[in-house]
This record gives sequence, structure tokens and C-alpha cells, in this order.
Amino acid sequence: MKANDLTLYNTLTREKQTFVPLHEGHVGMYVCGPTVYGDAHLGHARPAITFDTLFRYLRHLGYKVRYVRNITDVGHLEQDADEGEDKVAKKARLEALEPMEVVQRYLNSYHRDMEALNVLPPSIEPHASGHIIEQIEYIKRILEAGYAYESQGSVYFDVEKFNADHPYGKLSGRNIEDLQNNTRQLDGQHEKRNPLDFALWKKAAPEHIMHWPSPWSEGFPGWHLECSTMGEKYLGDTFDIHGGGMDLMFPHHECEIAQSVAAQGHDAVKYWIHNNMITIDGKKMGKSYNNFITLEQFFSGDHPFLTQAYSPMVIRFFILQAHYRSTVDFSNEALQAAEKALNKLLDAYRRLEKLEPAPRSDTTLPDFEKQCYAALDDDLNTPQVIAVLFEASKAINSAAAGELKLDAAQIGSLKHLFDTFLFDLLGIRMADAGEGGADMAPFEGAVDLLLQIRKQAKDAKDWATSDLIRDQLAALGFDVKDTKTGVEWKLR
Ligand code: ZN
Repeated sequence: MKANDLTLYNTLTREKQTFVPLHEGHVGMYVCGPTVYGDAHLGHARPAITFDTLFRYLRHLGYKVRYVRNITDVGHLEQDADEGEDKVAKKARLEALEPMEVVQRYLNSYHRDMEALNVLPPSIEPHASGHIIEQIEYIKRILEAGYAYESQGSVYFDVEKFNADHPYGKLSGRNIEDLQNNTRQLDGQHEKRNPLDFALWKKAAPEHIMHWPSPWSEGFPGWHLECSTMGEKYLGDTFDIHGGGMDLMFPHHECEIAQSVAAQGHDAVKYWIHNNMITIDGKKMGKSYNNFITLEQFFSGDHPFLTQAYSPMVIRFFILQAHYRSTVDFSNEALQAAEKALNKLLDAYRRLEKLEPAPRSDTTLPDFEKQCYAALDDDLNTPQVIAVLFEASKAINSAAAGELKLDAAQIGSLKHLFDTFLFDLLGIRMADAGEGGADMAPFEGAVDLLLQIRKQAKDAKDWATSDLIRDQLAALGFDVKDTKTGVEWKLR
């Protein structure tokens, strides 16, 4: 295992902390996954890619990681509140489907999109609806601790009572007085002692199609409960990392903390990590802005906002070009710049693969690998890793242009640098990155072979054959360029 220098910004303590796992060699990580009632969009891509990169890095450092990413398929009501229709049930009603049919359909498409983005599957992907019994047991513990009450068949968390013993709002930095002043009395809240209280169990209205028996009523669990319950079930009553988008910090994660402190007597999570949000042309993404673009639409270009299709690797690379705690603004211009930048790195890698080692190097390269580790150790600074890879590309391009001599060891370590950081850790998959790629190897080999025959023809002064090959390749769309060290080609 590599020496442990990893620091992560803990949202709870508001500082970067050295990462020390609770159990040596093991990491437990829980990330709030999607509510599956529609196609995945950019908002889903960012946390998935952020925590995938962290997952990859922790494993690379030698930790055995149990990564739990849940699927919300029940209890997430409209407006993220305690009233309104269940998001999954509403979709089922509108499309005349069984709720679990809705869940399966969008879970399949979520998995397809995640696989396209080269997001590794988590170790466990538990569904809220598969853990109703555990959630009921969890509610009983909160009731026994005195921090919840039953009201007309529903069970609510008593925020005021909890706050008297434990500070409520410490993650999001809110306090109960401000919250109270800013909370409107909504319909249906007459069941609650206080508008800030949140549902642990809701009695199902007659038209509500997803419900289960419980000691209190035929109903369904509150949205925040599944994460406390499944986090404890699969990672233990304290675990290392809990992640998600910043939009989940309040109320979702704040309520999770309150639930675990109430049921377990202590915080469950050591490091809270939140990724920042995405905007599109400076605006929040949403149906009302007409800029709601699904991942499939990005991949196909089939949306009025998009001037072209973007490969999943361009989306991934673009997201990783920003630090996960910074906002990211999507625009066609920015994505096109990312596409160009990624292709530059991949071109450099292809040149590197063809580079003939010099018997003696005439240069000392910086320790790029050390710089990349330092960047990732610094709260997962992926833009800095990309900057180092660009520095390394400069050396590769100079060597390919004959301006620099690199020996076999230097070429080997540059290859190792790209393989480790660009492909394994940033998760860029060459085959999906647009032009060229790993699945193009036989095709590339065939073009290289033709150019080799052309060289032999030239050496033999067989100009007719040499010209024929060059002209025919040009007609097929290949740019062939003679360089000092040989020949380079590119498909236009
Ligand atoms: Zn959650």
C-alpha cells in the first residue's frame, strides 16, 4: 500500500483532513444514488463520476473498498417534501406501468449510461423498497429513544426535541431558529407538532399505490430513512465516507445525521464529501429553463441546445477538468474545448506508443508520477492531474518531432503515467473517446502496414506505388504527414 497522504475536504468539519480509515486497510463508502423515475441527466453524472474517481483511487492505494450506492424507488415525494405524490408512483400512473416496471426501466437506462461513462458498478446497490423491514425496525429505535412520535398513522421525527440534546443543522450550517422562521406551514402539516419535523413513516392515502404494512399504518418510509438504514446495514454503525451532491446536504443528509444520532446514539459518518453542482450556460438545469438534457441526448446530440454529439468520455473528461467542489458550467463551446483537449492527450499517447527509444536520452524529465499523486492526494485535484498529463504530452510531442531524445526507461515511465492516471484513475477509456481507440487497433495496424509498404516503395524509388498509396489514403480521408522520425497519419 502506498503511504497514506490522502487528504479530503470534510463538509462536516469544513476543513481538509488526512484520510485515516476506521479499520486499517478497509474503507466503507456510501453515496446517495438516483431516484429512478426518469432518464439520467448531467446531474446524475457528476456525483457518479466524482465518487467513481475516489473509489478508483482508494482501491489503487490498496484499500479494500465496500462502495454502497443506493437506488431510491419509494418514498421520494415531489418537491423533496413530506407531501405530494411519490415520484416513481406518479411516473407509473402517467405511463400506465407497474411502479417496479418504472424502476426497472430507468435503472436499466441509468446502468447503461454509467457504463458508457466508465463508472464502475458499486459493491452493493441496495433498493429502498427491498429494505422496508429494516426501516421499520430503525423507526422503532428512534421512537424508543424518544425522538419521534406517531400521528394519525404516520411517524415524524421530532426536530425540536432532538435539537435540545444534539445540534440539528451542523452539516449545512443552519440553525433551528432560522429554519423555523423560513418554513411555511404547508398543507397536511397539521399532523406535525412542528413544520420542521420530517416523516419517518407515512400513512398511505387510498390512491397511493406503493404501501406496506407496519405497526402504525399501511404506508411507506420517508425518503431520508433508507440511507441511514442501509448505510448501517451494509457498512456498520460507523463508516468512513458518505458522499453525494451538495443539493442533498439539506434536508436529506442533515436528516440522515439526526436519524443516526437518534437511533444509534452517535454519528454514523466520519467524512462527509459533497460534489458541487452543474449549470448549463450559466443556468440551473431544469425543465422550466428548457435545458434539461439527458445523458443519452448528449451522446446522440439529439437536443436543440446541442450543436453536436459528445462522446461519454468527453463528458467524463469535462467533469474531471473541474475540481469536484467547484461548479461546472456546460456549454457547447466548453464541451468542444474539452473534446479537443482530450484528443490532444490521446494523440500524445498514440505517438508515445510508436516512439522509438533513443540509445541515450538528452533530457531529464520531471517526476510527473509524483506530481499526479500529490494532486490526487490533495482532495482529489483532478484538474491538476490533467495539467501534469499535458506537461508530459509536451515532452512526448517534442520527442516525436525529433527535438528531444527519450530512452526506453523514460518512454516506459511515460506510458505507465498515462496508463495509471488517465486510464485507470481518471477512467478515460480510449475506445470511446471519439477517433481512434483500443478497438481500432486492427484498423490502425492495417494503415501502418500500408505506410510501411509505401516507405519500402519509396526506398526502392518505386514512386508509382508510393504515390498510389498516399493518394488513395488521402481520398479515403487520411492525412499522412512525413516527419523527421517517420510518418504520422490521422483520419480527418
Ligand atoms: Zn441518501
